[in-house]
Amino acid sequence: AHIFPSAWTGINERTFLAIKPDGHQRRLVGEIIRRFERKGYHLVAMKMIQASEELLKKHYIELRDRPFYERLVKYMGSGPVVAMVWQGLDVVKTARMMLGETNPADSLPGTIRGDFGVDISRNIIHGSDSRESAQREITLWFQPHEIVCWQDNAEKWINE
Ligand code: UDP
Repeated sequence: AHIFPSAWTGINERTFLAIKPDGHQRRLVGEIIRRFERKGYHLVAMKMIQASEELLKKHYIELRDRPFYERLVKYMGSGPVVAMVWQGLDVVKTARMMLGETNPADSLPGTIRGDFGVDISRNIIHGSDSRESAQREITLWFQPHEIVCWQDNAEKWINE
């Protein structure tokens, strides 16, 4: 059965995560998905894509005046990214905690950037910084039909 929540808040809050080209090519995709699965979050959309310059420029529009903007867009287009939507209670904030700080040098061990990154630009993964950004980014990267609402039947299937 599919459940379509009427509002994306509470346990239905969603965030946008993208494993960047370095995270993908360093074979960290499984490791990263595993962390969010084990945390208890619910994967509702995922695709690997070679993002266009147009998409990346829109994604990072708020950083357009920063000196690293052009370099950032080039890096994000240098290979496929794994785009995902994860759902669950306080997922926007908690996912940012799980990612660590922008600079891996400021990120504690136990975070994704703290465990696997060194460079401030090549920091493995993107995560929305607010609910508003999440909504904007999900709409930018995914069509409505690509977001799959599903009911957790694991316990029922184990016991039936
Ligand atoms: N970035 C960079 N140099 C900087 C700051 C940021 O190359 O001095 C890159 C880095 O990949 C970062 C992205 O730009 O993840 C977006 O920057 P933002 O400040 O939004 O950090 P985030 O929200 O990703 O932690």
